[in-house]
Amino acid sequence: MISVAEAHRLIAAVVPGPAIEECRWQAAAGRVLAQQVAATFPMPRFTNSAMDGFAVRAADTSAASKDRPVELPLQGVVAAGTEKPPQVHPGQCAQIMTGAPLPEGADSVVIVEHTNGYDSDPVQIYRPVAVGDNVRQAGEEVREGDLLLEPGVRMGPGELGTLLGWGLERVSVYRAPAVAIAATGDELVAPGNALKPGQIYNTNLPVLSRLVTLAGGSLSGSAVLPDDPARLEQELAGLLSGADILLTSGGVSMGRFDHLRDVLERLGLEELFWKVAQRPGSPLLFGRLDSTLVFGLPGNPVSAMIVFLEYVWPVLEQLQGLAPQAKVTAELAAPFPRVRGKHRFLFGQAWLEEGHLKVLPARKLGSHMFTSSLGANCILETPPGEAPAPPGERVSLRLLPWSGLAGQAPGPVD
Ligand code: AMP
Ligand code: MG
Repeated sequence: MISVAEAHRLIAAVVPGPAIEECRWQAAAGRVLAQQVAATFPMPRFTNSAMDGFAVRAADTSAASKDRPVELPLQGVVAAGTEKPPQVHPGQCAQIMTGAPLPEGADSVVIVEHTNGYDSDPVQIYRPVAVGDNVRQAGEEVREGDLLLEPGVRMGPGELGTLLGWGLERVSVYRAPAVAIAATGDELVAPGNALKPGQIYNTNLPVLSRLVTLAGGSLSGSAVLPDDPARLEQELAGLLSGADILLTSGGVSMGRFDHLRDVLERLGLEELFWKVAQRPGSPLLFGRLDSTLVFGLPGNPVSAMIVFLEYVWPVLEQLQGLAPQAKVTAELAAPFPRVRGKHRFLFGQAWLEEGHLKVLPARKLGSHMFTSSLGANCILETPPGEAPAPPGERVSLRLLPWSGLAGQAPGPVD
């Protein structure tokens, strides 16, 4: 049995570097950028109007008031998209719409609400404007050559809009790791079907599939397999092909029908470890089969999910060029049941109280008790220990990547 730290070390030693591919923007959404993106032109690209109204020379409006409007003859209309706006000479104006290029000669815009409207020529201006009023200056947001996006950023809506704002529709992204999943167990039934005595629903396959997607991986295949060595060998061989990672659930403990280790060995697994001094998830198996990393996750649902988040999620991050998410420390709000000789993980709820992070561990401790994940926003952990860690002690935790921090103490977590 190895330690959690040793397990991480053995995994890190064999994770390959991230692979890069080029794709169109539609496929880049949600992926991790593998290149720098710099501005190929300033933004705004040309000086334009921020409002609907009239392009003027500010000096011409200095005496304007509602009672004594300044009258300016109209030189034309500048709509958004106009290629060549008319020149505005001293004492003149032009209608201009939001986003339309500012005509040569004009230096400011009077909003239409401060005039007698679009239907008169000359136009009556009711208020003075200063130079630059209601004008967006070329380059005021971004200068040409400025760095916009860096490698390692995930392409969310903001990143996507920024990329496309410069018309770039092809980018280099890190390849989404291909993950195959096999759930094993004679007792498993797909949700939606009736259970016979002794059967349970297969929840690990859907949960692990969802976790893979949330981590940015792509599912290359999945199967529910019986505890039958021949079937396991045949089906796993198929799932392995083209997979960067193979996840199995169940069948790696000491049970008579836990065949997975033998089967994977026959398929050529280079076993790097089996069994980690941790609860839940001590039977974790890890190895490499050709270029596929294989994680044999325990079948108990809490073990499978926690082990995935602790070991598989960071690998998926690394394969996508992301720095693994850092753990933080928080103050225990209730005793934490440490385990002698084993690192202990539990779901928990963390919240901010007067700037301090506090955390409450789940009260249901069993690795079969999947409802202990409900309402959780973190996984907390302590190294091996004899007695429970008392309230007030600081413990390490990993925030669940898809959930935020609560701003107040939770109700009891079960
Ligand atoms: P095993 O690791 O195969 O010994 O399974 C440990 C426990 O997890 C047993 O109670 C199994 O019934 C349960 N289990 C195994 N696979 C799944 C699954 N895919 N979904 C839900 N529970 C499972
Ligand atoms: Mg089993």
